[in-house]
Amino acid sequence: MNKKLWMVLFLIMSLCGCLVGCTVDGNVTTQESTTIVTTEENNEAQDDSDAQENAVAGLNADSQIENYGGADTTPLEDDDTLEVHYIDVGQGDSILIRQGDQSMLIDAGNNNKGTTVWSYLLHQNVDHLTYAIGTHPDADHIGGMDVVLYKMDCDTVMLPACASDTKTYEELIQTIGQREQTVVTPKQGQIYTLGKASFQILTDTDKDYGDNTNDYSLAFRLTFGDNSFLFTGDAEKAAEQDMIASGLTIQSDVFKAAHHGADTANTEDFLTAVHPTYCVISCGEGNSYGHPRAGVLNQLRAMGVKVFRTDEQGTIVATSDGSTITWNTSPSESWQAGEPTGSLDESKDSENAVTSALDQQSGVSYAKDSTDGLQSEDDAEQGDYILNANTKKFHRPTCASVKRMSDANKIVSTESREVLIEQGYEPCKNCNP
Ligand SMILES: [Zn+2]
Ligand SMILES: [Zn+2]
Repeated sequence: MNKKLWMVLFLIMSLCGCLVGCTVDGNVTTQESTTIVTTEENNEAQDDSDAQENAVAGLNADSQIENYGGADTTPLEDDDTLEVHYIDVGQGDSILIRQGDQSMLIDAGNNNKGTTVWSYLLHQNVDHLTYAIGTHPDADHIGGMDVVLYKMDCDTVMLPACASDTKTYEELIQTIGQREQTVVTPKQGQIYTLGKASFQILTDTDKDYGDNTNDYSLAFRLTFGDNSFLFTGDAEKAAEQDMIASGLTIQSDVFKAAHHGADTANTEDFLTAVHPTYCVISCGEGNSYGHPRAGVLNQLRAMGVKVFRTDEQGTIVATSDGSTITWNTSPSESWQAGEPTGSLDESKDSENAVTSALDQQSGVSYAKDSTDGLQSEDDAEQGDYILNANTKKFHRPTCASVKRMSDANKIVSTESREVLIEQGYEPCKNCNP
């Protein structure tokens, strides 16, 4: 046999070896030899540019592993978990992700939701953020972020390449400046670590989407062991097409519906490429935008996707152990679209849907510490006042309306009466706090 043929054979065999090593992802030891080679190569090629970028960004070199390679995260232990909290902020987005002692916040709801989000984080014992991501400058995403970043230390703030002249955006930039926090606009393909999880940026942040702020949304795919979560902010059709065309992996176990379930996003092509098992829709009950849209719900239903909704179920918490994802509630079965086609009775139906979903909770396997933590802390703490995040009223803990309040809207506060009024809360006229 001639030399050439041997060379070709040898090449094919080593290629196969590499592929096996790469697909046996993350937590397995078989990848050692191949990973070392690739990281060494990458390090040589990227040492200079990485050092430069990190210096500009002020980024901790540890948190950003490499530019376009695979994530080389620590193997998972038995008790390692990842929590993803889709916080109920009415019409808007706010998502807390925790792994080990690291936390990240994606968006913080509208301007009046900053305190809600901040106190939610405190209830979860989060007092430091590794990352805060403002997906795009719309108020229902970054509105509350200034309050959170004012109150909390944050290592890295990520913003898209899309500035805005709104007061909301200026307040955010001002707060980041005051707190001297680091801002970066990550590049498509970059991978960051969050404890033992990692996430890859999918947005082409060099692309010009004109006036459509939604399409600039920072989108990324987070992986933890074998589980994956996709977040695309309000990215619409054009951005979805670009993410598909990028060739980066977008298939994910859990998809946060883009743009609150609007049909200008969540296109059939994109949903097919993501192929999620679960979808979480973050939107406000009875919102005036008609979110989520019937077309999107129908598509998800046809694909057999299990849907969770903050408008019906309040805060949704997913917990992953790296192979299985459990939820704090059962999926919504209402399939109720936001289009203003129904009568007032429909809103009653959706209330009933919430109650039945909550009733079913006992029969569902769900991660105890996350939601129970929130509720039992509420009970145990007996703060001075109970705030309703929805009506923006505050009450004495004994007030009758506290009992009727949904847990998702309930905030226990130890702030003084004056501070609460300053924050825009109104004293209840019945209990006169
Ligand atoms: Zn939005
Ligand atoms: Zn938007």
